[in-house]
Amino acid sequence: MELQQLKEIQSDRDGFLCYLKPFKPFFQQTVDLILPPRCAFSGKIVSQQGAIQPEEWTKLQFISDPFCRCCGHPFDFKIDADMCCPSCLSDPPEFSKARAPLLYEDQSRSLILRFKHADQLHTLDTFLPWMLKAGASLLEQTDLILPVPLHRWRLIKRRYNQAALIAARISKKANLPWHHDLLLRARATPTQGHKKALDRKKNVKDAFTVPARKKNLLTGKTILLIDDVYTTGATVRECSRTLLNAGAAEVNVLTLARVVKR
Ligand SMILES: [Zn+2]
Repeated sequence: MELQQLKEIQSDRDGFLCYLKPFKPFFQQTVDLILPPRCAFSGKIVSQQGAIQPEEWTKLQFISDPFCRCCGHPFDFKIDADMCCPSCLSDPPEFSKARAPLLYEDQSRSLILRFKHADQLHTLDTFLPWMLKAGASLLEQTDLILPVPLHRWRLIKRRYNQAALIAARISKKANLPWHHDLLLRARATPTQGHKKALDRKKNVKDAFTVPARKKNLLTGKTILLIDDVYTTGATVRECSRTLLNAGAAEVNVLTLARVVKR
């Protein structure tokens, strides 16, 4: 299916949802009465969907300028707006830019674990605006949004791909098409957790593929790749390499959080 067709399908669906808009306030009030909105961290009732308690907010560490213009690694002070970190200079990544709103530390880890493993999908309402803001400049250039895929066996075990859920919501908010099965896992890989950088790179080598019949959907396109955490970048780098080899013009990366080693 061509991108234009994907956009038309999305447009039709959004058009249908417009008919329901007059009923939305009443519907939302009813839902809030039965299932009141809760803080994504403490679980206590808050004023609206996505809101968090002030004391939880202050524990979050947001990434702000200055940072590496390539991988988004935060800097302590600004020297040059176009400056790259030593890692990107010595081993340039396959993607063009990576951005994330949060540092990966105790508070953001708890948020991600709730979303990823504890079925607390409502936490998406909390962090989605942060991702949209951190990725605003990337979204302006994006033709197609793709999630980092899970292997089908892990998908069955976990029941949902957290990156695909994020990609679907960003697609809707940014009015851009997304595709859940354009980039696939060619083989199951052991989890990247607790692996060192070099082992992570070996672990995901040739782990991804684009079906031959779908490569035309990528040709010349700027892709925004979505994942929950950027750790060493090994996974998104391998995904980017696969997408570029399949015909994509450029790949950017947006994650909710990124690991920063000080
Ligand atoms: Zn960098």
